[in-house]
Amino acid sequence: MPTTTGHCTFCDIIRGAGEVSMCYEDADALAFMDIQPVNAGHLLVVPRAHYESLADVPPQLAMHLFDISMRLAGVVRQVTGCEDLNIVVNSGAAAGQDVFHYHVHVIPRREHDGFDIPLPFGGSAMPDRTLLDALAAQIISTLRDPMRTGNAEGSGALGGDDARRERRTTSARVGRRADAATERVRALATFSDTPRPAFRDDVDDAAPPRRWTAPREGAHGELRRAD
Ligand code: 5GP
Ligand code: ZN
Repeated sequence: MPTTTGHCTFCDIIRGAGEVSMCYEDADALAFMDIQPVNAGHLLVVPRAHYESLADVPPQLAMHLFDISMRLAGVVRQVTGCEDLNIVVNSGAAAGQDVFHYHVHVIPRREHDGFDIPLPFGGSAMPDRTLLDALAAQIISTLRDPMRTGNAEGSGALGGDDARRERRTTSARVGRRADAATERVRALATFSDTPRPAFRDDVDDAAPPRRWTAPREGAHGELRRAD
């Protein structure tokens, strides 16, 4: 199936039109060695059907792909002797996805191999706690609200009668509070728009880190934009 650019390298591979070193196959998924590995043993777990990014993959299939990744991670450890590894998904262009056929990287890691996923991110300062609390509250209320998450009754992270009761009571309470708080925080929170490079080696130490600023509370409980 074509991608937004009209051509998919991984679909070519799956239908046998490209050279590949396959290491796993089942009815819905397969895995093959990455053509430009970080280290020997770097492989990609891929659905047979064409889905571009994480948001497009049916949840059951996404779980299946992660299950395969976990199993293959153990095998890669044995085969390469690397104890350490990354399981990585780049979903979307801004997240570094280059091939727009969803895939999970299993990357064995060696000391000083030069690859890095630099977390915590040196280009960002720690946000104010009120901002973290407001975002956490918003996530909790959205998770519990079937109208917002698209979770039918009982099919979400919480299921059954207990979950329904929990949702009716807590969700309404947390949701109302969170909505009001996060709307105000979202309206007032700012993020300095000077971009910093993604990798620490490139960071100009003279430049100030990007900084989250949360609103300040006024004398009457009102929120004011931070200076
Ligand atoms: P992404 O940046 O999309 O997460 O990663 C794409 C990965 O696919 C890269 O690691 C790249 O080396 C790998 N890749 C790109 N084209 C091919 C190909 O034709 N065959 C194989 N085996 N891997 C590929
Ligand atoms: Zn494809």
